[in-house]
Amino acid sequence: MNDEELYKLLERTGALLTGHFKLSSGLHSDKYVQCAKLLQYPEMAEQVGVELAKRYENTICNGRTIDKIPNVIASPAIGGIVIGQEVAKALSSGQTTCSGRTTNIRHIFVEKDSDGKPTLRRGFSIAQDETFAVVEDVITTGKSTLEVIDLLTELGGKAVAILSIIDRTNCRGHTSCRGHTSSDGNPEFDIPFISLTKLDFNTYEPDKCPLCAQNIPIEKPGSRRRSPVFSALHFSESR
Ligand SMILES: [Zn+2]
Repeated sequence: MNDEELYKLLERTGALLTGHFKLSSGLHSDKYVQCAKLLQYPEMAEQVGVELAKRYENTICNGRTIDKIPNVIASPAIGGIVIGQEVAKALSSGQTTCSGRTTNIRHIFVEKDSDGKPTLRRGFSIAQDETFAVVEDVITTGKSTLEVIDLLTELGGKAVAILSIIDRTNCRGHTSCRGHTSSDGNPEFDIPFISLTKLDFNTYEPDKCPLCAQNIPIEKPGSRRRSPVFSALHFSESR
């Protein structure tokens, strides 16, 4: 699967939208991506998971940056769970031609406790010196990725790589990125970062947005929509 094929798949499933959007950061954008729209189709989720696992394995086989397959795949809940499961499945199901493959790869996910602190629940654990790779759907600021790394490292694990379907960071060397520095809030990963594709969105401060200037209606994806019944009631009340 090349970049263009993935792009088409994202568009076809409605995961990648073009228009005028208010992002969760508050910025306005001409694009919006919601990987869950693609991952809701199990066969596509599997296909993307296999592809990501292959990219990972190619990196290993070329002997450049990763010395072995991790014992554990770890994802931040909820967005990373489906793709994390698929990558773990692909890595442990004999897709690889590399030696040193671990067969019983686990997939665990990190949740937030009632105080919003990242935590392992459901009896998940990581042993001392167990290696792990973080798998996400989209990486933008890297905040949730670094939360997973910090928690599992504190518990004794050893981070070996970061994988995501989509790279939305401003990092340029995304297929095998090490320790790039940035002063604009982008992540500074010191382990390899592998993604299937890099998407650059045009983002704008609300008061400088050219789409607002053209009076194009803005959408806030992910927010709850009013049901038609509620809208009708509201409409009749307001008359
Ligand atoms: Zn706007």
